[in-house]
Amino acid sequence: MTYEPQQFASDNYAGICPEAWAAMEAANGGHAPAYGNDDWTQRAADAFRTLFESPCEVFFAFNGTAANSLALASLCQSYHSVICSSSAHVETDECGAPEFFSNGSKLLVASSVDGKLTPDAIRALATSRSDIHFPKPRVVTITQPTETGQVYTVDEIRAIASACRGLGLKLHMDGARFAQACAYLGCEPADITWRAGVDVLCFGGTKNGMAVGEAILFFDRALAEDFDYRCKQAGQLASKMRFLAAPWVGMLESGAWLRNAEHANRCATRLAAAIADVAEVEPMFPVEANAIFLRAPDPLLDELRTRGWRFYTFIGGGARFMFAWDAEVARVDVLAKDIRAAAMATARTVQAA
Ligand SMILES: *Cc1c(COP(=O)(O)O)cnc(C)c1O
Repeated sequence: MTYEPQQFASDNYAGICPEAWAAMEAANGGHAPAYGNDDWTQRAADAFRTLFESPCEVFFAFNGTAANSLALASLCQSYHSVICSSSAHVETDECGAPEFFSNGSKLLVASSVDGKLTPDAIRALATSRSDIHFPKPRVVTITQPTETGQVYTVDEIRAIASACRGLGLKLHMDGARFAQACAYLGCEPADITWRAGVDVLCFGGTKNGMAVGEAILFFDRALAEDFDYRCKQAGQLASKMRFLAAPWVGMLESGAWLRNAEHANRCATRLAAAIADVAEVEPMFPVEANAIFLRAPDPLLDELRTRGWRFYTFIGGGARFMFAWDAEVARVDVLAKDIRAAAMATARTVQAA
């Protein structure tokens, strides 16, 4: 099997980092009890409790869609509603799974320019109706960092949590790239979760160097009641759980979870800096995490494709580049060079025409 040069279309293109791989290998040393009754699962859960300085309840799911959907479903009755941003993954990219697993809890979508929710937007949706004919608001979900790579500050999360408490709403965080947010803010995981008022966190491992796996952390342990049954019913209870848990041990105990995210973030800011003076290309959003979205004329994007680059343009037509734990700095520089060359080539064509 041969591999092509790295692409930055998605952080899911990357493989497994050495720390996660080594833990998988160590977990493969022999037999162990099934369905999470093994030492690896215990050790992974404890590693989360240490990292978060919290006696939280920890569960493991195969992917982020399941983690988000089941977490939200556990916070809602079917007649409840969930407030989210218009660009939230739960709204745009989970095929209705949150509604499905909650037996019908409706997502109430706040339009948002930068993908972030605000206390005002939450209040407006939560108080717009209080009659029996409208699903009762029950949960707010925020994505940290957002789908376009913006990071909520500690104060922003505190303000949202405070609004939630005032309105009787629970606060869920989609942390598919939670590590990248911690790396950007330089804060403790607790500072942007339970200490700021978050009730439940879905912590992503897949996009940060694991093969598969997301963790669901309940800081309010009462909310975790029967969550194990919910996971099982949804097909999310791994029989050989140790292989879902062991990579977390490798990631958390070695500090790779944060190092990987720091590297990914650095690659995004490196690309942004390298093309800052290319007039035809402009970042659509502040570059804070491991993503950069570039607004550029279509011929320029076509030229980049001709040069072999793969990227998505599903958000506002801009080209998304997303860096993973293993992004090669030299390859990031090649991308920067190609963006510059594509800008020059297409500028010449426009002049000639
Ligand atoms: C990738 C991602 C998820 C999880 O997606 P899966 O493909 O289900 O693992 C959840 N939320 C956000 C914001 C994501 O980017």
